[in-house]
Amino acid sequence: QYLYKFIIIGDSGVGKSCILLQFTDHRFQEVYDFTIGVEFGSRMIKIKNQQIRLQIWDTAGQETFRSITRSYYRGAAGALLVYDISRRETFDHARNWLEDAHKHSTTNLQVMLIGNKSDLEKNRKVSKKEGEEFAKEHNLLFLETSAKTAQNIEEAFLETARVIYDK
Ligand code: GDP
Ligand code: MG
Repeated sequence: QYLYKFIIIGDSGVGKSCILLQFTDHRFQEVYDFTIGVEFGSRMIKIKNQQIRLQIWDTAGQETFRSITRSYYRGAAGALLVYDISRRETFDHARNWLEDAHKHSTTNLQVMLIGNKSDLEKNRKVSKKEGEEFAKEHNLLFLETSAKTAQNIEEAFLETARVIYDK
């Protein structure tokens, strides 16, 4: 059995913990106390008949820029770099998160850029095209997701794992 460590990074409030909860538990909780310490989630997936356990690390309350420790990144195979399509500054910070990830990661980290809260179309501040272009420029995978409706949540983890598996 394979084990892949995944990490979720990005500004506070973009929906990291909700993405994790939706993926591992298939539910969305509007208000949830994710505030203490680093949280973990785990789920089995299957890629080309190979069972893989995804062990997912979530940064609870330590999203202050550059405060994430090296141990968080250590051994991570995949990273979801999340911004909120309804808050432009969270997209502007993606660049910094990426620098941080490349500085700290000890492995060849596969990054998936995620524009979360796609259900908030009426409040959209970052176009899909901008997300796609940033991803292309930096060689990242890209998807828009909603932890609320579960749109593309499954795909985000599976697609990242598939690319890692094929490396
Ligand atoms: P974190 O700080 O990045 O872990 O963000 P949370 O997962 O705690 O989510 C922050 C807030 O955004 C909460 O109030 C969530 O209910 C809300 N939220 C998260 N994901 C979504 C989403 O896809 N759509 C909508 N409408 N709200 C979301
Ligand atoms: Mg959180």
